[in-house]
Amino acid sequence: MDLRDLPSVDALTGDLSIDFDLPRAVVVSVARDAINEARDSARSGSPVDPVLSATRRLRTLSSSRLRSVVNATGVLLHTNLGRAPVGVTDTPFFSNLEFDLESGQRGKRAHYLHELIAATAGSETALVVNNNAGALLLSLAALAGRDGRVAVSRGELIEIGGSFRLPDLMAASGAHLVEVGTTNRTRRSDFIEVPGTVEAVLKVHPSNYRVEGFTEDVPFSEMPEIAHHLGALFIADVGSGLLDEATPWIDGGPPGWLNGEPAVRQVLGQGADIVLFSGDKLLGGPQAGVIVGKRNAVERLAKHPIARAVRVNTPTIASLTATFEAYASGTAGTIPFWQMAVSPTEELRRRTGHVLQISGATGSIVDGESLPGAGSVPGLSIPTPVLRIDGGDERTWRALADHEPPVIAARRDGSTIVNLRSVPPEEDPIVAAALATL
Ligand SMILES: *Cc1c(COP(=O)(O)O)cnc(C)c1O
Repeated sequence: MDLRDLPSVDALTGDLSIDFDLPRAVVVSVARDAINEARDSARSGSPVDPVLSATRRLRTLSSSRLRSVVNATGVLLHTNLGRAPVGVTDTPFFSNLEFDLESGQRGKRAHYLHELIAATAGSETALVVNNNAGALLLSLAALAGRDGRVAVSRGELIEIGGSFRLPDLMAASGAHLVEVGTTNRTRRSDFIEVPGTVEAVLKVHPSNYRVEGFTEDVPFSEMPEIAHHLGALFIADVGSGLLDEATPWIDGGPPGWLNGEPAVRQVLGQGADIVLFSGDKLLGGPQAGVIVGKRNAVERLAKHPIARAVRVNTPTIASLTATFEAYASGTAGTIPFWQMAVSPTEELRRRTGHVLQISGATGSIVDGESLPGAGSVPGLSIPTPVLRIDGGDERTWRALADHEPPVIAARRDGSTIVNLRSVPPEEDPIVAAALATL
């Protein structure tokens, strides 16, 4: 393109605004960047078309604007799709966030929520922060502090995803990592023989992988005694947030796929000083980091300056209160994650058949599987009848994702799979409408 033919920012903005329903300031900024880029590239002899490049950028921007999607992947806690489903209220409200309605004085943020969590999990006290990574950072900073030493098994120096690496987070907290044992085997004696003093012993549930074969590790149940023998506190990061291994909220008790997942109530009962977990994994609530445990330990966390930097906001407090009240009142079976997780296969087969029939698409219902996801219960899956679309290649997947609202299916071995376990039944008509466009 000749430099003289470059459109003005105004003209390009006008053209782009026809196709993209985004605030004018955003379109102007993209148009200006594209024109500058075209001018520079024309000078260097390989001209770029500003209309094409601006269109490409706006398409990327508008598809990354936060919106709701239908999760037909069968991964119930899909990290890319926001883990557990969340409700967003759009009516703004003032609240008694830090106001005590009884005394008319300033009150404590999340006071009720903390008492509710403690009563539900069976701990002395509780503290909620922004997410579990924040909970871990705060725990290490408050309990070990600058230059304090924290012992961890080498088998648990893990990367959780999104480049979250435990050794890096520990370094950021100021605590010194004391590596114990080997990658595949760590024993009680390895901890007992750690030279020098340690302030804390940390055990991290290796949530997204499983070490098999010639392995040995010290279970959560033995860790408190070891830590206390060393004169240290025991921090248990159970990650996934299964509240009780007996799952009293599920008729017929714990499903097989939960086998071996450490649970908050039991790890606390075994004597952990603090237990940390995410709000949006197996708990089924909003993004949050929940800390439960002994009063003296949790109070040290609450007083640390990092606690202020990772504190929770009003919507999270509201949503997490509803989640924990469901557990406390025996109705946690109604939490969307658990409804999806325990939905019977006959029911899913019926729904899938109905969606296939009303959509007019062609495909077959085959035996498939769903995953709890978000790194919970690695290696275990939930049997699920799924829809394999005939001739469902990448273009089929794309067409479903381009539907309004987007329907995100799974891709497996070159075919497109629609799995309704992760879809609430009221969204079935949307899936059918998307399939009807194929
Ligand atoms: C998921 C996970 C985390 C990180 O939790 P976020 O809530 O995503 O910050 C930390 N530790 C373990 C063991 C986890 O499974």
